[in-house]
Amino acid sequence: MYKEKTVQTNVCIECGDRISYGRSDKKFCCESCKNRYHNRQTQTSRQYRQKVKSSLERNYYILDSLRRTSLRNIPVADMKSMGFRFEYFTSYVKKQSKETFLCYDMKYCISGGVVTSISKVNAEI
Ligand SMILES: [Zn+2]
Repeated sequence: MYKEKTVQTNVCIECGDRISYGRSDKKFCCESCKNRYHNRQTQTSRQYRQKVKSSLERNYYILDSLRRTSLRNIPVADMKSMGFRFEYFTSYVKKQSKETFLCYDMKYCISGGVVTSISKVNAEI
């Protein structure tokens, strides 16, 4: 009976070259492809975290600037046009229907499409 020889058909997930030796679950053809692949994964994660940090910093700056003005009710749409990203905050509390957000030690409430009560809390570490 003819028996076909098992042929390794895996390809390197970094460069696409065939992997002709090693374990059948091997993903890379060589150490440098493995390192290149993992470095890129790490870099992507780092860039994402940096983007979130930058957005939080920008939000903080906007809140701090508004806190120093006489404005007390700022429409959400106005905050967005200033570059405020409502999807980024560091803490959130909902009591009854009142939603309170924190951006580090900067507190603000959102009610009826308006941002109110911007204040700095006593941050204790
Ligand atoms: Zn490779």
